[in-house]
Amino acid sequence: MSLHTPIRPHWKCAICSDEWPCHTRRRQLLAQFYGAPASLALVLARHLVQACEDLPTTASGLLHRRFLGWLNPPTAPPRTPSPPVRLFSDTHMPPAAVTGDSPRPPLRAPKHAAHRLLAGVG
Ligand SMILES: [Zn+2]
Repeated sequence: MSLHTPIRPHWKCAICSDEWPCHTRRRQLLAQFYGAPASLALVLARHLVQACEDLPTTASGLLHRRFLGWLNPPTAPPRTPSPPVRLFSDTHMPPAAVTGDSPRPPLRAPKHAAHRLLAGVG
């Protein structure tokens, strides 16, 4: 049981008279809730609600920072942009029945290539 408890309604530490949670109590809470950051946040949120009731003239943002702002935010894995998903390459398009698209128009050679073929050039 910590002696660094809050004195209500002023929310000062009973031992060091700092604003609660004081530095010592914060260290104690971090050790007590090691590996359970969500539980620690819930406990502090409950105290925050009580403090908001006891200190109605104090800005709620200041109280939020005081009670919860010192906690480390949860870490998430780094986000890396993923390449666009391509199921088929352009040269091997699936039939329209697979894609649900309308049938592709037949491939046509450019006119100048067709003329060269007809002329026997190339
Ligand atoms: Zn203290």
